[in-house]
Order: sequence, then structure tokens, then C-alpha cells
Amino acid sequence: MTVWLVGAGPGDPGLITAKGLDLIRTCEALVYDVLAADELVAEAPDDALLIPRAKLKQAEINAILVELGEQGLEVVRLKGGDPFVFGRGSEEIEALRAAGIACEVVPGVSSISAVPGSAGIPITHRGVSAQVTVVSGHSADGGDLDYDHLARTPGTLVVFMGVAHLNRITSQLIAAGMAPTRPAAVVARGTTVHEERVDATLDSIAQDAADLRSPALLIVGEVVAVGAAQRPGSSAITA
Ligand code: SAH
Repeated sequence: MTVWLVGAGPGDPGLITAKGLDLIRTCEALVYDVLAADELVAEAPDDALLIPRAKLKQAEINAILVELGEQGLEVVRLKGGDPFVFGRGSEEIEALRAAGIACEVVPGVSSISAVPGSAGIPITHRGVSAQVTVVSGHSADGGDLDYDHLARTPGTLVVFMGVAHLNRITSQLIAAGMAPTRPAAVVARGTTVHEERVDATLDSIAQDAADLRSPALLIVGEVVAVGAAQRPGSSAITA
């Protein structure tokens, strides 16, 4: 009788861990996010209780997890990517611990590197980027970003939850001094069959990727051009 916080991986159902899949297959209740692949939800036993997160508020989800835990059930809380990367998994753990319910975390493959990687963009590349900065572009998520700091920071910038605010984010980075010609890409629904990648520069990505919808990541930095050079069919491969 444990509540397991399981990372579902970035979208492709094959990218869950073996341990996470075993837990889904033997659970008694599965509470899952919209980002978790349908194929993974379908792996739960036929008689398991299935609870979609849907529009529930975080406090309601916490309460449901506590209640299922108090009933003594084996519960899997399935979350997109890794539960502790912009996933509020730590808030759920806090609520469960406060209620005295046994809980454990099974990490997942986060979209941080898996989504750029699936689209052919390495977030580090020797001689090009030895540093990665990861931020949330959702302004409700901890206030606005420190654009002066970001504009001064070398390496790769990965922006989560930014696709609805691309214009604001890119224009603030440019206003803070980041080069408008810096390579930038948006990858939407990465690792799934619906994956889309748009390449541009910092000053044009908001317009060029305007049709892409969440979930999507914005990646800014020279690695975007490295990725482009390494894509199959590219004549820019120098090896
Ligand atoms: N815990 C998750 C992140 C949850 S926040 C993880 O570790 O990946 C949700 C945000 O993650 C989305 O708004 C998007 O920015 C990013 N994201 C998640 N899955 C994605 C995917 N398949 N393709 C592109 N971005 C994704």
C-alpha cells in the first residue's frame, strides 16, 4: 500500500521505465495526467480505478491521492516526463507525507533532453555548449524570468511551457541583449508520431512557430544549428 509517483516519459509510451510499467500493470488505482500516453493508461489492470487528472486543481489531486492511500490501495500517480521537473510531484509527496502515507518516486525520462534529442538537437555539444539553463516560460509559475541573467548566460536555454508566450519571451531576451540571430527551435509533441520541429532565429521563432501548440519546448542556442547539421539528409554534416 504505497502511492508511487511514476514518470511516464516525454510522450512515446516506450520511454517509460521498466519499473514504472511494472507498477502500472499491477496497480489498483491509476491517477494520470493529460501528458501521459493513452497506451500506458491502457496497461492498467481491467479492474483498476482510473482517475484522469483532467481539470482537477492541485489541492484536489493531493486530496484524492491521500484518500486512495488511506484506503490502503496500491496507487500509481502517473505524470508526464519526470515527476520532479516542473511536475509538482514534490507537492504531492509533501501532502502524502503530511498524511502519513507511504510514497515513493520512480523517475521518468524528462522532456528536458529527450524532446530536443528526439528532434536531433543535442542540448550539450563539445566546443559549442557546456551549460544548460532550464526555465518555465509560464508567467504564473514563479513570476517573470530574470531576462538580464538569461541573456548573459552562455550555452543552451530550454524553456518549458513557453509556447503561448513566445513573443514575450523572445522579445524580452533580445531587449536584455541576447543576439537576435541566435539559433532557436520549437519542438512540439516531441518523441510522439506527431512531433514537429521549427527552426529559426531568436527574432523570428515566435512568428515561424506560431502554429505549434503545447506541449512544446523552446530551445535557444548554437546547439540548434548543430542539430540541424546532424539531421539525416543535411549536406552540412562535416563529421
Ligand atoms: N515533468 C515534465 C514537464 C511537465 S511541464 C517533464 O519532465 O518533461 C509541461 C511542459 O513540458 C510542457 O508545457 C512542455 O513545455 C514540456 N513538454 C512535456 N512533454 C513534451 C513533449 N512531448 N514535447 C514538447 N514539450 C513537452
